[in-house]
Amino acid sequence: MRDTFEFLKLVLDALPEHIVVIDARGDIQYTNRSWCEFGSQNAAFPMEDWSHFNYLDVCDRSATAGDRYAKKAAVGIKRVVDGCESAFYLEYPCHGGSEYRWFMMRVKPLEMDKRTYFVVSHHDISERILAEEQVRKLAKLDGLTDIPNRRSFDEFVNQEWRRCKRLNKSICMLIIDIDFFKLLNDTNGHQTGDACLKKTAKLLMSYAKRPSDFCARYGGEEFAVVWCDMSEKEVIDRATCLIREFLDLKIPHRSSPIGPYLTISMGVSMTIPRKEDSVEDLIYLSDQMLYKAKVNGKNRIEYSFPIR
Ligand code: GH3
Ligand code: MG
Ligand code: MG
Repeated sequence: MRDTFEFLKLVLDALPEHIVVIDARGDIQYTNRSWCEFGSQNAAFPMEDWSHFNYLDVCDRSATAGDRYAKKAAVGIKRVVDGCESAFYLEYPCHGGSEYRWFMMRVKPLEMDKRTYFVVSHHDISERILAEEQVRKLAKLDGLTDIPNRRSFDEFVNQEWRRCKRLNKSICMLIIDIDFFKLLNDTNGHQTGDACLKKTAKLLMSYAKRPSDFCARYGGEEFAVVWCDMSEKEVIDRATCLIREFLDLKIPHRSSPIGPYLTISMGVSMTIPRKEDSVEDLIYLSDQMLYKAKVNGKNRIEYSFPIR
């Protein structure tokens, strides 16, 4: 029983991997059940008549139609067929309707009766790819507020700096710090402090809606916002609205020396990046402006606009 063709066929049909065996020209010699079912569901290879297909032709046709993964697959398979590689692996997306799917293609040669065949198997790796994407996403978000963290901020701001330099556009950096936050923690407890950070993050995010805007938790009770391609007036109007809306949240701060509600201070600087400037200069300037806002009594914005 164990040596029979039927038995081995049943084993191959029981596998979840989609398996197809081709000859050196790419003509299909065998497919297992998973491969046929997937093929018929996805209209690539109708189940009844797979034997008339040439696998390499199908890849080439899809590649010509613009499918870059089909092009990579075709190149990889040919390299194994030509003996340049002993195996080929390719991770590729194959989304179906609303279903998010990724597969790993593996190509290995197989000798039989002095002829070489090639086993092409497709293994569903969607769960792994989703998990990896989730890890990447989490690594870029702040755990408490769920908004981008300092690392994402550094990435974005460097990229945006280069873009603004190339296009001769302005880039504006706001550093926002909650006033008397330590006192709030001491008076109301750390949990209340955490809730305030979340509210602050939510409001700031609503001021970073354009594709060239960005908002991140910069660290502790400090946040950073980037706005690109805005005039000084637009920046002043927007920043003024922001600080006003923050006050309108009316977050109680019983021990604040400057009023009954929680306040923020903002340091704002803007420039059109020139060759000799660096993004660190802009961050430094915003920091200086924030310091000035604190020294001048907090709950205010200080600007530096060197682009006039
Ligand atoms: P200033 O008005 O000058 O900004 O004073 P401040 O008290 O806001 O600033 P300071 O730097 O003295 O204190 C910042 C506080 O922020 C201290 C720290 O415990 C608190 N903090 C930092 N991260 C968190 C957090 O994730 N949750 C909470 N609840 N507090 C935090
Ligand atoms: Mg601070
Ligand atoms: Mg503070």
